[in-house]
Amino acid sequence: MKKIIKNGTIVTATDIYTADVLIEDEKVQSIGQNISDIYAEVIDASGYYVMPGGIDPHTHMDMPFGGTVTTDDFETGSIAAAHGGTTTFIDFCLTEKGKSLKSALEKWHAKSADKAVIDYGFHLQIVEANEDVLREMPRVIEEEGVTSFKVFMAYKDVLQADDETLFQTLVTAREHGGLVMVHAENGDVINYLTNKALEEGNTDPIYHALTRPPELEGEATGRAAKLTALADSQLYVVHVTCQEAVEQIAEARNKGFRVYGETCPQYLVLDQTYLERPGFEGAKFVWSPPLRHSSNQEILWNALKSGQLQTIGSDHCSFNFKGQKELGKDDFSKIPNGGPFVEDRFSVLFSEGVKKGRISLNKFIDLTSTQAAKLFGLFPQKGTIAPGSDADIVLFDPNAERTISVDTHHMNVDYSALEGMRIIGEPVTVLSRGDYVIKDKQFVGKPGNGKYLKCNKFNHNSLQENEKEDDLVH
Ligand SMILES: [Zn+2]
Repeated sequence: MKKIIKNGTIVTATDIYTADVLIEDEKVQSIGQNISDIYAEVIDASGYYVMPGGIDPHTHMDMPFGGTVTTDDFETGSIAAAHGGTTTFIDFCLTEKGKSLKSALEKWHAKSADKAVIDYGFHLQIVEANEDVLREMPRVIEEEGVTSFKVFMAYKDVLQADDETLFQTLVTAREHGGLVMVHAENGDVINYLTNKALEEGNTDPIYHALTRPPELEGEATGRAAKLTALADSQLYVVHVTCQEAVEQIAEARNKGFRVYGETCPQYLVLDQTYLERPGFEGAKFVWSPPLRHSSNQEILWNALKSGQLQTIGSDHCSFNFKGQKELGKDDFSKIPNGGPFVEDRFSVLFSEGVKKGRISLNKFIDLTSTQAAKLFGLFPQKGTIAPGSDADIVLFDPNAERTISVDTHHMNVDYSALEGMRIIGEPVTVLSRGDYVIKDKQFVGKPGNGKYLKCNKFNHNSLQENEKEDDLVH
């Protein structure tokens, strides 16, 4: 059925204006003044922003880690994402040494088919760039629509790849239009520091942060950026947390290299002291890279504003406190790494960013939606409101005030890392390809309605327009 969104303020990465939006056959058909159609349902958006749905480029649904599995699967995780204004997510498909990329993708398709309520794509991990894998990468890009490849520089003996693998992945990605993503921390040195801390009897959650100092993130980020320059390839650094890493990305970008960076809400609003909370509560805040000293927060905001970092991912990776985080009660290195953020990514950035005057409203859309669509080959199908784009639209109340809490969130996890945080702004109604997923804050979607998205090849030209500095003051 056709829909017309009336009386709202349309916000994209470049514009803010009042107009009506006509939706038909899953797409935005037209945008204009006083659109009328007797066959269309009229949605009154008075007082609301009409925004492109958020794109979360970084989630871990139904993922095994450290002998356990993340609590949110593609159904619960995507429902929570939709409540939070996100209409597309890109999940990390893990691979195994010695097995084909195709077999890993089949596993991830089996986890997600018939479950997701919004559209989704995959990034593919490269753990070992052997001949078979390097031969399979171009085929995965061309046929499977997976164009981004993740290399872990940390988690020694588990997920970590060596520099040869990173470099070969970069070279292959350049040749075939892929984008290489890195978890940038020096896993070898972290391994040494972790063992040393445990030998000395230091087992509390805070040692998770103390054994992964920011210097090791800066070092790995710089190493990856330099290898990218040498390979004349393209790099996306996930979850950037600190000055040391931002400086490396800025330096590479200033030299003209195709290096991009993401940060996450948790690094913008929480800090390392949370890991010191008594009664093992610090474990709720254990993920990698760890939370940093609060002085890094303004540095990250400035990097977002100036365009040195381009996107906001949630790094959603939910583990219950009871029974899962507790696995590390006597040994911080056994605490499953990850936190629940898929639902709050969009609103926290609006409240802390736009409402507090740190970023403009256009920049907010760019960071939470448009840039991810461009980097991962989904633009302009996703990431904007324009004729021909998918009707993935959020009606957002910019004045609603609320408190984040485990009692009201929709993620399948027994705590909120943002418990008690007061925020302004709330998604009210969310459409995925023109269908209601959230209507007046209630979930009305259906598992399986979310479609798997084939991503297009990396295209540097699509990004250049947005690389200008953003000096708009909201
Ligand atoms: Zn992650």
